[in-house]
Amino acid sequence: MQTVEVNTAPDYRVHIGHGAYQQFKDEYRPLLNGADKIAVVADEQAWSHHGSLLLDALGGLDLRVLKIPAGEQAKNADTFMAIHSFLLENNCSRKSVLIAFGGGAAGDVAGFAASTFMRGIVYFQCPTTILAHDSAVGGKTAINHPSGKNMIGTFYQPAAVLYETRTLATLPEGEVRSGMAEVIKHAFISNPGWLEELLKIRQFSAMPDKELETHLAKGIAVKAAIVEEDEQEHGARKFLNFGHTLAHAIEGNAGYGQVTHGEAVALGMVFDLLIEEHPRTDEYVDWCRANGYPLNLLTALAFDNLLPYMKRDKKSSGGELVFIALPETGVPAVAVLTEEKARIIYGKLQNKIR
Ligand code: NAD
Ligand code: ZN
Repeated sequence: MQTVEVNTAPDYRVHIGHGAYQQFKDEYRPLLNGADKIAVVADEQAWSHHGSLLLDALGGLDLRVLKIPAGEQAKNADTFMAIHSFLLENNCSRKSVLIAFGGGAAGDVAGFAASTFMRGIVYFQCPTTILAHDSAVGGKTAINHPSGKNMIGTFYQPAAVLYETRTLATLPEGEVRSGMAEVIKHAFISNPGWLEELLKIRQFSAMPDKELETHLAKGIAVKAAIVEEDEQEHGARKFLNFGHTLAHAIEGNAGYGQVTHGEAVALGMVFDLLIEEHPRTDEYVDWCRANGYPLNLLTALAFDNLLPYMKRDKKSSGGELVFIALPETGVPAVAVLTEEKARIIYGKLQNKIR
């Protein structure tokens, strides 16, 4: 078991490993015992596979479980209201505790509900995807608006994150790739030695559990350090957007659901590496290929179709294009590019992956 401290206000801990839910008994028992009700809001897919792990660990406590639709379909106002209705029907109060169980989507909507129910109740995050090593830390909660992703939300920290890595065994391959892209993103922006280790992986499924646990803990520590420095996203937090300007355009252009978020980020990072011609670009492209990232999308998608999405990126203003470049591993920097320059880099990118 590994533990990472997140020193935001309030601070909290992330417990990562086999048996992480044991912490409910060991450390958080007083918090649970002090609650008048404990509600679990669970992604139905994750719950069908792994709900029993949580139920076993919390045996003896009176839990109310609400299953919400799997993945992104849950991140809307309907589910948000359904969670509130469920809490009210079960006579929950300000003294109740909510446990969010699932990937980033369930964590985001359940966290948003926890932050707004009676102006905020104590909640725990129990992530069940690799990507959620990213989303469960940092305190951002959200639902989508029909005209934009994550448009409605709050900053709200959990009491703790209990990351049971046994849940990750059932993740579909695309979700493993999605999460591992954010892991390697955290390495690119922070740590050359760790990046080197990750670049050696040729098949995620062959990675021993202990190794995955270590990578997740390292990723969480990087995210935590950045979030501690910049809780409300005014500065360093934008470096977490490494790979994301093109990624959002790919997701928008290919159609949401056609490619997982992290797969798009994996491709977006090739672009960002090319801005400053990072020396590990070729090695990284090989890594993407070996691990099955959909590089062919980059030949299928034309720059002109991606451009409008990149102009709309939240980092951009006044039509300029903003990316996160990487002059050196561990040293991300904001790069403002003209349309012409971005077009040239995209051309280089297409040549590289052909
Ligand atoms: P997800 O929550 O949509 O889950 C992906 C799929 O995997 C779903 O179908 C889900 O049902 C299934 N699943 C979850 N756990 C499983 C398991 N253990 N076994 C089998 N299937 C399982 O995807 P995600 O990638 O975890 O999260 C993406 C969401 O996270 C997006 O909505 C994104 O906006 C959000 N996000 C938030 C932050 C933040 O800071 N709050 C950061 C990054 C991403
Ligand atoms: Zn991301």
